[in-house]
Amino acid sequence: MPKPHVAARPGRPAGVYSAAPGAPAHEAGVVFPGLEEIRVNEPLSFVHPTPVSAWGTYLAQIDRVLPYLGPLARWIETVRRPKRALIVDIPIEMDDGTIGHFEGYRVQHSLTRGPGKGGVRYHPDVTLEEVMALSGWMSIKNAAVNLPFGGAKGGIRVDPKRLSRKELEKVTRRYTSEIGVIIGPQRDIPAPDVNTNAQIMAWMMDTYSVNVGATATGVVTGKPIELGGSLGRVKATGRGVFVTGREAARRLGLNLDGARVAVQGFGNVGSAAAELFFQAGAKIVAIQDHSGTVVNSHGFELADLMPHVRAADGVAGFRGGGGDAVDAEAFWDTDCDILVCAALEGQVTAARAARIKARLVLEGANGPTVPAADDVLAERGILVMPDVICNAGGVTVSYFEWVQDFSSFFWTEDEINLRLDRIMVGALKNIWDKADHHRISLRTATFAVACERILNARQERGLYP
Ligand code: NAD
Repeated sequence: MPKPHVAARPGRPAGVYSAAPGAPAHEAGVVFPGLEEIRVNEPLSFVHPTPVSAWGTYLAQIDRVLPYLGPLARWIETVRRPKRALIVDIPIEMDDGTIGHFEGYRVQHSLTRGPGKGGVRYHPDVTLEEVMALSGWMSIKNAAVNLPFGGAKGGIRVDPKRLSRKELEKVTRRYTSEIGVIIGPQRDIPAPDVNTNAQIMAWMMDTYSVNVGATATGVVTGKPIELGGSLGRVKATGRGVFVTGREAARRLGLNLDGARVAVQGFGNVGSAAAELFFQAGAKIVAIQDHSGTVVNSHGFELADLMPHVRAADGVAGFRGGGGDAVDAEAFWDTDCDILVCAALEGQVTAARAARIKARLVLEGANGPTVPAADDVLAERGILVMPDVICNAGGVTVSYFEWVQDFSSFFWTEDEINLRLDRIMVGALKNIWDKADHHRISLRTATFAVACERILNARQERGLYP
């Protein structure tokens, strides 16, 4: 990352300034000849990104898109820093009478194109930096699919498996109340992410509604159907992974019937995607989750696997149809055509990328590939379907849910799946055209399409005051 720093010209306030209008795009974000007094890209004081950290990865991805933004590049700082970041303390009385404190966040990265939109993650390792990166990716994702949303994300540093149901409800309600000052159906709409689900969304919706004195179904998405949830939402992210994978396979001349698929992460996203690939005739030859890694070169029978995962809380121990357990690291050596990454970020390192045998990598998870690994995969001719379009199916059906809640008119599951398919295919075609035009990766093309929309909106709105 360029880090120019020069003193402000006397009489001109110190601050962060962007490139002059009409400056060459690749110069935005650096010091311009003759304009040395301009300070740009002063790093944020509250975050310390590294090349492999989530926010560092996000910033590196933004850097790569700069040459393709033309005059809009002067607004690039807009997407390099979150608009608003809230850190909250969540105190609750635990079941044993002690007082537990948890750290929570809600980051609104961009509200330029509409209300914030993005999930809430419960994980003991969540940090402000991770939530910032996830919120940035939400801005890109929502703009790439052309949804009328900005980008946001939330999280609590907690291991929900160590809480009782009552404690989980208390943590959720207090967190919702604390971030209640910045969320709302027209302001910022949370949704489920890792370790959060429809029940947690129901508690969030109820807490917000009680606090504002009116039932506000549109404040969160991913709710239970009886509370204004949408049909098709639970499996929408996995469906989007499948749809983008299907389109990419078609362009690669890869027949899904008989294709070998390896899946990392067998939760909401991974299991739904695996099911759709399986229905299309693909063989699920390897699955890895937090509990273990199982492989079967003949393909697993998913009908048997799903009940096992539910009962055993993971894939470990599953041998259906002659599968074997292998060491976690061996997962990356699996002979396969398609690799679905649907666990957590930072999983595909450069070293692992050198071993991957797939022709196509589908990023169901957010940020699973570090930038150095992206380069290795590109050199090896492995196509990467980036997270910012690959897993956009979830937020697209969240958008449908929000629209349905406002109109109080609900669609059938077939209508939802059809509309999701159409939107994803259209968005991907647009991105692919951009990639072909500039001869750039699908990731940079997705960032280019999205940044153009966000920065155009920023420019048209203008700066207040
Ligand atoms: P989930 O909690 O349902 O599933 C996560 C899966 O990852 C589980 O199978 C878990 O065992 C596995 N996992 C965790 N740590 C692992 C490790 N170290 N190695 C291997 N596997 C591991 O979560 P999810 O909702 O399926 O989300 C998965 C990813 O997809 C996340 O990155 C999330 O941000 C992203 N995503 C989710 C949605 C959604 O709608 N749920 C939407 C967009 C993106």
